[in-house]
Amino acid sequence: MQVVWFKKDLRIEDHAPLYEAIKLGKKLLPLYIIEPEFWAQPDCSLRHYNFLLNCLVSLNHSLQKLGASLTIKVGNTIDVFKNLHENHKIKAIFSHQETGNMWTFERDKNFKRWVQENNIAWVEKQQNGVIRGKHDRNDWGKNWYKTMSLPVVECPNKISSLHELPDKIPSAADLKLHKDICTSTIVGGREEALNLLNSFLGDRGKNYAAEMSSPLTAFDACSRLSPHITFGTLSLKEIFQAVERRKKELNALPEHKRNKWASALRSFSSRLRWHCHFIQKFEDEPDIEFNNMHPAYNGLREKDFNESYFTAWQNGKTGYPMIDACMRSLIHTGWINFRMRAMLISFASYHLWLHWRRPAHYLARLFTDYEPGIHYAQIQMQSGTTGINSIRIYNPIKQGLDHDPEGKFIKKWIPELKNVPTSLIHTPWMAKNLMGGYPLPIVNEKEARQKASGKIYEIRKHKQHKAISKNIVIKHASRKALPKRNVPSKIKMSPYQRELPI
Ligand SMILES: Cc1cc2nc3c(=O)[nH]c(=O)nc-3n(C[C@H](O)[C@H](O)[C@H](O)COP(=O)(O)OP(=O)(O)OC[C@H]3O[C@@H](n4cnc5c(N)ncnc54)[C@H](O)[C@@H]3O)c2cc1C
Repeated sequence: MQVVWFKKDLRIEDHAPLYEAIKLGKKLLPLYIIEPEFWAQPDCSLRHYNFLLNCLVSLNHSLQKLGASLTIKVGNTIDVFKNLHENHKIKAIFSHQETGNMWTFERDKNFKRWVQENNIAWVEKQQNGVIRGKHDRNDWGKNWYKTMSLPVVECPNKISSLHELPDKIPSAADLKLHKDICTSTIVGGREEALNLLNSFLGDRGKNYAAEMSSPLTAFDACSRLSPHITFGTLSLKEIFQAVERRKKELNALPEHKRNKWASALRSFSSRLRWHCHFIQKFEDEPDIEFNNMHPAYNGLREKDFNESYFTAWQNGKTGYPMIDACMRSLIHTGWINFRMRAMLISFASYHLWLHWRRPAHYLARLFTDYEPGIHYAQIQMQSGTTGINSIRIYNPIKQGLDHDPEGKFIKKWIPELKNVPTSLIHTPWMAKNLMGGYPLPIVNEKEARQKASGKIYEIRKHKQHKAISKNIVIKHASRKALPKRNVPSKIKMSPYQRELPI
């Protein structure tokens, strides 16, 4: 028998592994494995699990329409496959490549050994624009466009599948899932993804470029497709090509109507490329899940972790309204826009001087769209530990004034401040008697910012820092930013690079 192993690709459209398996003309088993050990990792949450379960129901519906069904098994991946192999003699397994966290990477390495020992073919297809085993970034951008422009893989119209007795789907309690304080879940599944894509390209996205930064407008103006991209209910190629079709349609409009859309779709398309650009960094150096990208920052914050600051930040009780409103909104909805994510981690890393790892896990659990490749690279960028990006310390008072001038977002999420006048909403400590039990700031913004930036710049000025940064730029930076002479045709591969054992 042959198995199509669904991972972070929960759709049947534009699904190369499914297509390849069907081409062989034999019966196949569509399989998803719920791995309890994976769900026990510190970056997993109930919110992700609920979204996943929606996606599995939706995938099963799609398969049923073609005469097949999804078999869900629970357990260790190798044990599940061993069992199937004993009963059915597996010939080949088809899946997409996965750039997950270190846990899934190790799982895949062990699994590769197992398939080799058992003479089973494991065909892994490229998932998006991320290239496995690429030793440099030369032509990476060109290849990305080429991949995104390839025809979408044909959707099958019939699947001849095997049926295996499915396992009972574990409850959140069975998996001992981190509940944190998540109160709601974004709905998963293909239908929801298509609704979001259509409403974004048809209407919501028109003011994308202007409105993506404010949490007041971003919820409507951004696509909010990220959890669907993470779980693969839509492929990146499908989205890219829908944007291209929309661009053509818009060409028919008069220029004044087209302008806003043109810049919106340009920005949106760039971000689809960034998605892969960041995951490629992680593919090439998965170690950044644990360690600073630039070693000069090792030991900088580790010993200073202040538990009470961390607790205040986690619970939206730092005394800085914009930080707390964003955190409370994220806890409630499972999504927040880019700028506010950057501000949240910047405040934790700089003002509160917390080492980024525990805040990163906490945010990972709150983000429905948690994608390790984007997450850790962004966390490190906004914490100043990549050594190659300019230091950006977000001032939460300024962010509030710029992106929520009347304090509407703040008042929605911090009802304690309802009596504070608009003129003081970003500095409520100046109206102490109206704060309704909301805390005073846990640190002095200006002093904390200056202290943090002083420490970081002290490290950055050393000669050795610059030398190491140069190598990081060569390895990870987009080629557009690099003068040609700095680009070697090949660089040494990191020992951590995700090449699976042969
Ligand atoms: C600290 C931090 C952590 C982050 N963690 C994640 C994460 O775990 N998962 C995740 O998908 N995004 C993450 N992002 C990037 C970004 O904030 C989200 O992709 C975006 O807010 C998702 O909303 P959207 O789908 O409406 O995006 P849109 O603005 O509509 O963009 C469309 C798609 O482009 C991609 N994209 C957008 N912005 C970025 C970016 N800056 N970098 C890389 N890809 C991007 C995403 O796939 C997104 O769905 C993080 C950003 C920061 C600052």
